[in-house]
Amino acid sequence: MAKKEFKAESKRLLDLMINSIYTHREIFLRELISNASDAIDKLYYRSLTDQSVGMNREDFEIRLSVDKEARTLTISDNGIGMTEEDLENNLGTIARSGSLAFKQDNEAKEDIDIIGQFGVGFYSAFMVSDHVTVRTRPFGSDKAWRWESDGADGYTITEDDKPTHGTDIILEIKPSSEEENYDEFLEGFRLQQLVKKYSDYIRFPIRMMMDRSKLKEGTGTADVPAEYEHYQEEETLNSMVPIWKKNRSELTDEDYNNFYREKFFDYEAPAKVIHSSTEGASTYNALLFIPSRPPYDFYSRDYEKGLQLYASGVLIMEKCPDLLPDYFSFVKGLVDSQDLSLNISREMLQHDRQLKLIASRLEKKIKSELLAMLKNDREAYEAFYKNFGLQLKYGVYSDYGAHKDLLQDLLLFYSSTEKKLVTLEEYVSRMKEDQKYIYYASGETTDRIDRLPQTERLKEMGYEILYLTDDVDEFCLKMMMNFSEKEFRSVSDKDLGLEEKAEDESIQKRNEENQELFRFMKDALGDKVTAVRLTSRLKSHPVCLTTDGGLSIEMERVLNGMPGAVSNGQKVQAQRVLELNPDHPIFARLTSLFAEDSQQLKDFTQLLYDQALLIEGLPIEDPVAFSNLVCQLMAK
Ligand code: ADP
Repeated sequence: MAKKEFKAESKRLLDLMINSIYTHREIFLRELISNASDAIDKLYYRSLTDQSVGMNREDFEIRLSVDKEARTLTISDNGIGMTEEDLENNLGTIARSGSLAFKQDNEAKEDIDIIGQFGVGFYSAFMVSDHVTVRTRPFGSDKAWRWESDGADGYTITEDDKPTHGTDIILEIKPSSEEENYDEFLEGFRLQQLVKKYSDYIRFPIRMMMDRSKLKEGTGTADVPAEYEHYQEEETLNSMVPIWKKNRSELTDEDYNNFYREKFFDYEAPAKVIHSSTEGASTYNALLFIPSRPPYDFYSRDYEKGLQLYASGVLIMEKCPDLLPDYFSFVKGLVDSQDLSLNISREMLQHDRQLKLIASRLEKKIKSELLAMLKNDREAYEAFYKNFGLQLKYGVYSDYGAHKDLLQDLLLFYSSTEKKLVTLEEYVSRMKEDQKYIYYASGETTDRIDRLPQTERLKEMGYEILYLTDDVDEFCLKMMMNFSEKEFRSVSDKDLGLEEKAEDESIQKRNEENQELFRFMKDALGDKVTAVRLTSRLKSHPVCLTTDGGLSIEMERVLNGMPGAVSNGQKVQAQRVLELNPDHPIFARLTSLFAEDSQQLKDFTQLLYDQALLIEGLPIEDPVAFSNLVCQLMAK
């Protein structure tokens, strides 16, 4: 029978695993026990919904056995087993491409503790074993199979005579050397320790025959010296209480962190653990985690949100999306409830009243925990916000703003006066007495926004401005419309609600006086702008670009940048307005040119418009023409 090769990626991971100078190789046991437990879960679940399986909960077990002479450690389960095809698909390739993607990112950092922190599954067996045999019989099948491999160079599959359903994983433990001790994996007490450390919560008994000794009867008295007899006794090594059913006071940070890393394949500890249990209208235990960084695929289409769902301790769904709203999609964790029926189908689950109840309570819980973090540990919250704030802002924007009340207190934006992220509440608490609006300005970076001419006057008058740098920001504020009854206002808006009436009136008057000049300039620019006018918002700069109507230049950029926007012919256009500073010498020059030299006025208008575009960080339509005009001026 020919040897088959591992799939390419599996081979690379295997090589790495076998050859890594690796200190956490003990986790192989955790991985294999966890697979065994999954396999039992699958059959147990079936037994609950299908009478013909004929197994009860207490019939299931995981068994460890050691043969010191043969140097083998066997991990057995009476779970669902594997068909020949399963063996091929599951053990010939790497199931969890996540580990591989992660590894590629970290290729350079050889000694990073990837494997210990990451679930690497079945392959970890090769860290302690030179030869692995898998004997398996699928439940209800009359055929059994044997998979064997020495590691990276391939594997074989043949028929086997395993009499009962389930799987035995037989590891031939590597010989110990001076540097490496593998013998420990053949010692009962060491194995017991490892089960306690990593697999205590596994909900099926993990049993092993343990060596014992006791005082021989009649010895160990004053006259007879002590003699011991050795015997073996079966012991259940794990407590079987899942961590989420334990009392918070019994658990350490490390317990939570280990559980999280193992279960959710992260190599960093979570930023926040939320462990809650409730009784009453719905009874459940929830153990939720906020990761300390976004999963590698978080902002991709492949990311699937959801929590593990257990009904009375039995896993019924690996990722239940209905338990989490999209704006909290970064939350990992699980929910265990006795109010859910075991054999509920996915379709029915969606409409389940209990599930909805749980989801709504979790949503509130997550929010209150985030608020507490914001209040008590600002630094941690800001780190969280950097990772997942975007998701919250999308949450405000989506569903026509239906969740804005829930989410608005969690938002942070950069403040022009504080020079850091602030909440809307903090902004409002600092608003001046006469201040009508919450001001904001959009741009690529806070530095760039800070230099925008439109912000000049407001800043000079001592008003705080929120600087928006994410694409979604302005849409998010537009959706909220106001906060604490204060409306949001762009610094580019026509009406900034300032009290300086006299100044505004004089601008108004001068706009009327120069109507013809502005009409000429507007015509020179064609449909690029809807108007040219004087403004009071500028102090030292001659010109800026603003908009009339609801759509800002920033929003125009975002919308037109969306995939398909242009090809659909659905390009949107903001109503741009070229605004001039009446106190700048350039304005005086424009008025005199209007009387003297209309061609030059045209050129100047074009130049000013292009400059305004550049200031906004927008591309100019004809850079060559722009440059030629500037050169003409320089040569004068
Ligand atoms: P993962 O557990 O993340 O899927 P593994 O490499 O540990 O990755 O295992 C690959 C697959 O092999 C599992 O998903 C499961 O389908 C199958 N498998 C592993 N061990 C067992 C077992 N003891 N019984 C049944 N199936 C198993």
